Order: sequence, then C-alpha cells, then structure tokens
Amino acid sequence: MKNCAIVGINWGDEGKGRMVDLLTQDYDVVVRYQGGGNAGHTVVNERGKFALHLLPSGIFREGVVNILGNGVAMDCENLWVEMQDVMSKDVALTPENLKISDRCSLLLPWHRDLDALEEDRLAGKKYGSTKQGIAPFYSDKYQKKTVMAGELLHPEYLRSHLADILEWKNLTLDRVYGAKTYTMDEIMAWIGEFGEKIKPYICDTGAFLRQAQQDGKRILVEAQLGALRDLDYGIYPYTTSSNSIAAYAPVGSGLPSARIDEVVGVVKAYSSCVGEGPFTCEWFGAEAEALREAGGEYGAKTGRPRRVGPIDLVATRYGVETQAATNIALTKLDVLSYMDKIPLCVRYEIDGVETDRFPFPALLPQAKPVVEYMDGWKCDISGITEWDKLPAAARRYVEYVEQAIGCRIGYVSVGPERDSIILR
Ligand code: GDP
Repeated sequence: MKNCAIVGINWGDEGKGRMVDLLTQDYDVVVRYQGGGNAGHTVVNERGKFALHLLPSGIFREGVVNILGNGVAMDCENLWVEMQDVMSKDVALTPENLKISDRCSLLLPWHRDLDALEEDRLAGKKYGSTKQGIAPFYSDKYQKKTVMAGELLHPEYLRSHLADILEWKNLTLDRVYGAKTYTMDEIMAWIGEFGEKIKPYICDTGAFLRQAQQDGKRILVEAQLGALRDLDYGIYPYTTSSNSIAAYAPVGSGLPSARIDEVVGVVKAYSSCVGEGPFTCEWFGAEAEALREAGGEYGAKTGRPRRVGPIDLVATRYGVETQAATNIALTKLDVLSYMDKIPLCVRYEIDGVETDRFPFPALLPQAKPVVEYMDGWKCDISGITEWDKLPAAARRYVEYVEQAIGCRIGYVSVGPERDSIILR
C-alpha cells in the first residue's frame, strides 16, 4: 500500500480521526487536503483525548511529517489555539513535523462575521453553518479575493494585496449587511498576532511532497466531513463548501500527479448528522436520545447534539461509490450493543415507489426509510480484537452491511482507543 486516503462515507463524524491515528504508524507523511476548523476529529491515545480541527491526525506520531495542503481553509487564529493545546500536552510541533502550504488561502476575521451575518439573515432557512467562516472563505477564494499563507513571508506584497481586498470586503459588510467594517490597522494587527505564529511552518509543501514521492515515502491524505457533505456530490446546498471526496485529494494536497492506491472509507455502524438538511433515517424522541447517549453524539466543534438514526445503506452505498472506496472501516459497532434488534435502512420510498438508489437532493425531503431489523448481540464487545470472538449476531450485521454497500469491511472498530479495533 503506497498512497492512502482516509475519507468519510456519510455526513461526517464517522471516526476518521481514530483511523488516521491508527494507520499513521505505516506512513511517513499525513496531509489534510480540504476544509478548515469547522469540524473536528477526536483522537484518543496515550497522551489524552484531543479534538483536532485543523491539525492533521498524524501529529501524535514521531517521525511523521504533517502537512496542511493548499486546499485547506487556513484559519491561523484557530490553528494557533489548537497548536497550543496540543503542545501543552507534550506534543512537539516544529517546522519538521508540521508544514503549512504557502498556497493555502487565509481565512480572515470577516469570513467568520459574514458566515454569522448570513445565517442570521436566513433565519428559519439557515444551512446550519458552524459559523467558522468556511462558506464565505471558499467563495472569496474562488473569486480570488483572499490572500495566500505564503504572502506572510512577503509583507509588503501582503499589505498592498490586503488593502485592495479590504476596500471590496467593507462594501459587502456595510452595504449588504450594515455590519461593522474593518480598518487596515485592525486587519494588520490580527495578521501580526496570528499570522506571525504560523509563519515558521509555511513552506512550499508541493515541492516537499514531490520529493517525498520520489523518495518512495508513504503518503496518507486525510479528509474532513464525508461524501454526503461534498460540495459537488453531496446533499447540496446542505453541503460544505469544499470537496471532501478522495478524488480531490491530489489537488488539495499539493501533489496533483499522485495516484491514491487505497481509499479507506469510514462508515459509522449507525447514522449521525450535524446541522440542517434532509436526513432520511432520523430518529426522534426517546429512541434518538438513547442512541445519542450511547454513542456520545455531540459535535466535536460545537457541542451540538447530533441527529441520529439507524445505518442508511442507500446513502452509504452512494458514499462508497462517490469516494471510490477500496476498503471500509466500520466504527462504533460497540454502541449498538444495547439494542435488542438492530435497525437498517435498506431502501427509500419516494412517492410510493421503493428505490435503493440515492436520489437527487430535491427528492430527499420526500424520501422515507424502509427499515429492516437484524438480531442484536446484547453484550459488551468493546474489548474484542479478533473477528472470530465477536458474537455471531455482530458478525452477521457486519457481513450484511458489507454485502449491501459493495465494499470489503477491513476494519471493525469497537471503541475509541487506538487498540480497540478488529482487523479482518
Ligand atoms: P471524525 O470527524 O470522523 O474523526 O469523527 P469524530 O471524532 O467527530 O467522531 C468520532 C467519535 O467517536 C470520537 O469521539 C471518537 O473517539 C469516537 N469513536 C471512534 N471510533 C469509535 C468506536 O469504535 N467506538 C466508540 N464507542 N467510539 C468511537
């Protein structure tokens, strides 16, 4: 296995962080290729429990080089908070083990303001943004109206570039939203405070990756969120504003010539979803409460209770296809241990017709889940590390999901800790 991507198959929060943390032992370089600080990976290891938002999950492995690629929304303020947290727990961050692409664009304070202003304007029709500025950031990037991290190394160029953008941005803040505008001094003070902190880590990560590839190094690329939140292939407009799918990894990493040999798709043994948008399998009331509690389903970034429901085989099969997954990690199987019968959404019913194909987003609000049940196992499986030792009912569940989604399940995770994993 050479290059590998670890991606989400569903709506995010599938447990990608724990899989990257586990698999980095076989890799030399870990790269985040999209998104910003708007979601979180939770990693539990011998140093403690960490909620990573921007830092690649390989940061805990000695000898691994971690890269924030050009596709990332570089929020230096949040990154610095996160770096301090990690460093306070004895994890060394140096320009040797953390590199920031000079080509990633900077998420600026007004992106966060605009995100909140627009969500407020939308009121009852909001998209469920985490208000981290991601949508305004990517809009600006594609409009060529933000600055790149590498410009921090060229202060005069940066200042004059920012002055041009500031004039335009203040027009939007003032005339569209009647909101507070920025002065050049304010924005330079922010750059001085947080841009300076990340400056030592900025370099030409594309050149580094090309050399690493030539030297035969093993490269792992890490996504945020999941296939159903991908800007082009997800449940638009309730998607994120970047491409979370593996096909974007070479572009967003800084290694456009890379071939991804293995795509490990992470699937949760049930469904969860944060924020707004259609969620066909959603449970409500006591049933939802029990699953949410069992799975600890509260957002890593926002603490928001996640929406939960049974595994959605229709959406998961679509996610597997979209990600071109070659191997699946099924996580949180242990969470289902309390159930007498395990529910699975096997098809959707739309306008009285059953289908096993994931529909166009406009049809999703009408879709109803067709649910079937399998026997539960009703015992603690969290210490099990061998496939044969899993109760027969749990194995049957995994095998059924595997057959339904059309991809091998090579990893079954039964707990958040690094070792709570069954390799098949
Ligand atoms: P990510 O963004 O895809 O990395 O997912 P999150 O970190 O938001 O959510 C995964 C959560 O589930 C984290 O709190 C993990 O520690 C936890 N977790 C991951 N795998 C397992 C598992 O197999 N069992 C249990 N009980 N928890 C898990």
